[in-house]
Amino acid sequence: MFNVLRNEAAPISLENRQSYSGEDVWDALSRVFNKKCYICETKEPSDINVEHFEPHRGDPDKKFDWDNLYFSCGRCNNIKLARYDELIDCCDPSIDVLRAIKHVPPVTPYAKSLRIEPQLEDEKTKLTAELIEKVFNSTHTPNKTVSASFLRKRVFQQFNLFLDLQRDYFDELTLSAEKETTIERMKLLINSSSQYSAFISWCVLDDDELAPLLNDFIGF
Ligand SMILES: [Zn+2]
Repeated sequence: MFNVLRNEAAPISLENRQSYSGEDVWDALSRVFNKKCYICETKEPSDINVEHFEPHRGDPDKKFDWDNLYFSCGRCNNIKLARYDELIDCCDPSIDVLRAIKHVPPVTPYAKSLRIEPQLEDEKTKLTAELIEKVFNSTHTPNKTVSASFLRKRVFQQFNLFLDLQRDYFDELTLSAEKETTIERMKLLINSSSQYSAFISWCVLDDDELAPLLNDFIGF
């Protein structure tokens, strides 16, 4: 999960309370969420939803509240349903959602599962980690089993980009100027605009040499 900076005013179409999914809402959400699902971090997923973070249950104040509209892929939205209402809020600037939940990437493309670990003891963090874990590892239905496998493979592909950079960086023949370029490239992977940035950020956070160099670029 990554922190979202909701730095845009409420789209005009929400004012008349006819629809919460007008074109201007889609465009604004796409920009604010970096075209990513806020739960699985897939960029430009084929099926994307305008989601109510807090279910509106018919309440127009929640239904058309810009701050309550989130961008999630159809798959995550379906897994979340009503069971996962009390999540940590990636749009709340007082919560470092990235460091709250450890994301460990799969080490092979067809790994059977990957690890998601809450770093805090509160119920919201634990429930959010449980949801993310289910998104990536679900074997609940044959459909979910296959789609989770696809998802883990996509995470691995991103992790593989990081492995290439890591190998370059730690190669004893790498020149200092090349190392600097490699660090700049790592910054791209950990930036919240990149997909699966939480997984790559945690690879960096767990490395004693890379963490001090990149810590300031992780998260917000
Ligand atoms: Zn998703």
